[in-house]
Amino acid sequence: SPAARRPSAPTSAAPGGVRRPTMAEPEEPARAAPRRLGAAPSRPVTPAKPERAKAAPTKERGRLTIATATGATGEDRTRSVASYRRRVQRLSGKGHQEPKEKLAREVVVPETITVQELANRMSERAVDVVRLLMKQGVMKKITDLIDADTAQLVAEDLGHTVRRVAESDVEEGLFDAPDAEGAQTQRAPVVTIMGHVDHGKTSLLDAIRHTKVVKGEAGGITQHIGAYQVPSPLGGLITFIDTPGHAAFTAMRQRGAKSTDIVVLVVAADDGVMPQTAEAINHARAAGVPLIVAINKIDKPEAKPDKVRSELLQYEIQVESLGGETLEVEVSAKTGEGLDKLLEVIQLQAEILDLKANADRAAEGVVIEAKLDRGRGPVATVLVQRGTLHQGDIVVAGSEWGRVRMLVDDKGASTPNALPSTPVEILGFNGAPEAGDRFAVVENEARAREIADYRQRQKREQAAARATVRVSGLEEMMSQIKTAGRKELPLVIKGDVQGSVEAIVQSLEKIGNDEVGVRVLLSGVGGVTESDVILAAASKAAVLGFNVRALKEARDAADRTGTEIRYYNIIYDLVDDIKSTMSGMLSPERREDFLGNAEIREIFAVSKVGKIAGCLVTDGVVQKGASVRLIRDNVVIHEGKLATLKRFKDDVQEVRAGTECGMSFENYQDMRAGDVIECYRVTEVKRTL
Ligand code: GDP
Ligand code: MG
Repeated sequence: SPAARRPSAPTSAAPGGVRRPTMAEPEEPARAAPRRLGAAPSRPVTPAKPERAKAAPTKERGRLTIATATGATGEDRTRSVASYRRRVQRLSGKGHQEPKEKLAREVVVPETITVQELANRMSERAVDVVRLLMKQGVMKKITDLIDADTAQLVAEDLGHTVRRVAESDVEEGLFDAPDAEGAQTQRAPVVTIMGHVDHGKTSLLDAIRHTKVVKGEAGGITQHIGAYQVPSPLGGLITFIDTPGHAAFTAMRQRGAKSTDIVVLVVAADDGVMPQTAEAINHARAAGVPLIVAINKIDKPEAKPDKVRSELLQYEIQVESLGGETLEVEVSAKTGEGLDKLLEVIQLQAEILDLKANADRAAEGVVIEAKLDRGRGPVATVLVQRGTLHQGDIVVAGSEWGRVRMLVDDKGASTPNALPSTPVEILGFNGAPEAGDRFAVVENEARAREIADYRQRQKREQAAARATVRVSGLEEMMSQIKTAGRKELPLVIKGDVQGSVEAIVQSLEKIGNDEVGVRVLLSGVGGVTESDVILAAASKAAVLGFNVRALKEARDAADRTGTEIRYYNIIYDLVDDIKSTMSGMLSPERREDFLGNAEIREIFAVSKVGKIAGCLVTDGVVQKGASVRLIRDNVVIHEGKLATLKRFKDDVQEVRAGTECGMSFENYQDMRAGDVIECYRVTEVKRTL
């Protein structure tokens, strides 16, 4: 019977068509009982019900106040009210579980969210969310991502309210959460060595590591992770990081990751202050990082350390021995002389800086280097800056995330955790982050995925935006080229290690001039992927692979779109190749070769031909087809081409000095007696960068 099915039916469909209030209508509770009782006598004849399911009699008994018929007691009636309510609830089905019995929550919904995470935030079961989505024709697994619109529908359907958050909100609180007072303890200084090429940066780093690490640790260094810690002579540790260059140092700072406490400026005593020395000074100064000067190669007979000291004054660096503030040490990376002193001075400087960090919190820091390792997958060398990084932590760096599968220290040993100022390799990232990216440990995978997804989307959008600017129409592009006056060679660059990619990009950006240059649409670590090729194709760019190869899909895409992929394994070759390509883009130089001068003596008007100038060649030679300038009173009044050249009636190829001839010009008639004609040839010379 329909009456039994629908909760509102029993009363509204009552015999007699009179709508009567029920116990489900709380607004009239006082009247409900007497009226029901009063109406009872009309109910016994409800015809359709006798053979209904078992559940029915209970209800019927209550409803019908069978007192008249069976002499049922009041107890029966009370029970029947309760059972009716239960029954209604039971029959009305699972979909309509009383919403008032659970908490309506405010659910924070980001741009995308996994089904599981949405369920968690609503305190609902994930399977219920999946089922609801399925009803709406959306097939999703618990781990699948849904967009915010879908999530909102689901949440509201389940009686929750939704707060949509801006995409960038996902990053909120990721970094720089303040520490509680007194939570910070001493940490090791982080030192970067900078200086001019060949002044001994690498040698110095190696020398320090060898004397300090190899001597102390059996087995020595099994691998190079671009950073290491050594014990300082005064106790404690010093962390050295090997940044690939000054620009990278600054790039890291631009990305908000100040990675260095102290810069050791290496100056070779036999060479003095050089351009990159000055560059390093500027970078360190801009970063507000104190400098220590290491005057290297003092073992060399031609070393002139005092010359270095005085040269540094030009850059407003006054070393201690000249009465200034900057600490300086004479060293030799070759003999090891002065290395202990250098470490002491670093320690001294560190004490002045009073470097502290809270080790007792979720770790954050900066990616120093990242690569794709054939055997180990993506490997990121990071510097922990605060907190302690543990194996098993979930980390986000740039647009990549992962669960720390293994931590490898600077000696190549696996370690369960890493304290502040410790460089360590992280294994377990899903993809290689970029050098200079900040990393942070987050509370769960969902958060990590959310942040990484957001950043990946941003990256894609930026790349796409750049690409569409490029292809927004040929005319626009041409006008851009005209107004900017610069032709650009668009490139997509992929390499095996972030350091080389950065070096390549930097070198390429340097070889342009104001006429031509490269435009790097995308650069990154890893093999050439299909999406790289598609991006390149959209901008008619070439793809450069440095020590990496294209995946099969990428090769197919390249064939399909006619995109060129070039492979290199030597940076110099790559740069050279691009340089010559760009040289080809340079408009050739026009070189003017003077041929001769002539003077107009007389003008003849010839019917059908126009005006002809009767001239005398005064010096050099005049040639047919050459370029000419018409000069009157030392002012150039016309530039153009010689149309005809005649001796008497005959056309000739050239006329030499001292000879008379007739000339006419292309598209020009207004010459006069007394004008001087300068004749020259233009040759185009290919230019190179
Ligand atoms: P970087 O370009 O600054 O990394 O310089 P390198 O460390 O590659 O050194 C350049 C050259 O200088 C190498 O041939 C080194 O052997 C040499 N060199 C470095 N330090 C010293 C030193 O203290 N004494 C001498 N005699 N040669 C050194
Ligand atoms: Mg070097």
